Amino acid sequence: MFSLASRSLRLSVAGCQASRCSLATVISGSKTSKLVRERLKNDVEKMRNQFSGFRPGLVVLQVGDRDDSNLYISSKLKAAAEIGIEAKHIRLPSSATQEEVLQSVMAVNQNPAVHGLIVQLPLDSAHKMDTDLITNTVSSDKDVDGLSCINAGKLSRGDLSDCFIPCTPNGCMELIRQTGVSVAGKHAVVIGRSKIVGAPMRDLLLWRHATVTTCHSKTQDLPEQVGRADILVVGAGRAEMVRGEWLKVGAVVIDCGINHLPDETKASGKRVVGDVHYASANQRAGFLTPVPGGVGPMTVAMLMENTVQSAQRFLLRSQSLR
Ligand code: NDP
Repeated sequence: MFSLASRSLRLSVAGCQASRCSLATVISGSKTSKLVRERLKNDVEKMRNQFSGFRPGLVVLQVGDRDDSNLYISSKLKAAAEIGIEAKHIRLPSSATQEEVLQSVMAVNQNPAVHGLIVQLPLDSAHKMDTDLITNTVSSDKDVDGLSCINAGKLSRGDLSDCFIPCTPNGCMELIRQTGVSVAGKHAVVIGRSKIVGAPMRDLLLWRHATVTTCHSKTQDLPEQVGRADILVVGAGRAEMVRGEWLKVGAVVIDCGINHLPDETKASGKRVVGDVHYASANQRAGFLTPVPGGVGPMTVAMLMENTVQSAQRFLLRSQSLR
């Protein structure tokens, strides 16, 4: 993998002691995710040759018909097809009961040709659903979203090699790796503590030996906390909330946010922005992810990575039973 270390923190810090500085190095999720997908395609090809046509199997289970979910699912199916993963989309109507959703999950759990199962969230259901119960019903060895208590528990204890790591934080770690900046010993700040982004991000940074501060909606003086970050990961869902002036000069800034702001100059009438104010952050950060083209493509790539990894573990288990 390539590294962005050529424009390292040293350069940024040296050049930025004055109030304005050179622009941050952009960490491209589009480029990095392409490299990951190419590597996975090779891995799948090898598996097919070695195990007589074997292919990793992925199921995306959807309840209802949300437009945003449809978009995310189609990009997952497209990536899977490119890599050689056998992907299937199961769509239940929004009238499906919780029992029916659980039955579908359990049926996929039993299917040996499926190595990864994700339940697309949020559920678009006419009924009240216990989302945690549904994600916990996914077999932990097919839980490629890493959302079950078993996988989350292992991650929180630092058992990183024995669990599925949630895709967005895993993608963020890959982007941080691209900078060439070592995580160990750094002060990392995570904004957000959700099960899908903030909490696993905190765990990953901690077990990669950063000292981590987790911020949330009740955190006092967010700018002060942000200003202490060598590495900042933001997953708050608040458009352009983090201002460049808050940042430590030279910081690595990873923006998970996907928000829409009205924009009459666009045909759609809106534009996508992150949780970080890009223009001002670009003046102080050492490294910065764009939105779009940053964390988003990495999330899909890491889902594919987890699915291929799950298939590899399946093959290992099958061989050891022989
Ligand atoms: P959630 O709404 O589940 O969590 C948001 C978190 O941010 C909460 O912990 C909340 O705190 C915290 N928060 C909200 N407002 C503030 C504030 N003003 N100051 C400090 N903390 C705040 O969102 P998700 O974690 O699901 O998603 C976060 C963002 O990441 C969204 O923009 C989402 O679209 C994006 N996302 C992007 C993905 C990708 O592939 N790029 C994938 C998943 C999400 P509290 O806990 O106190 O409520």
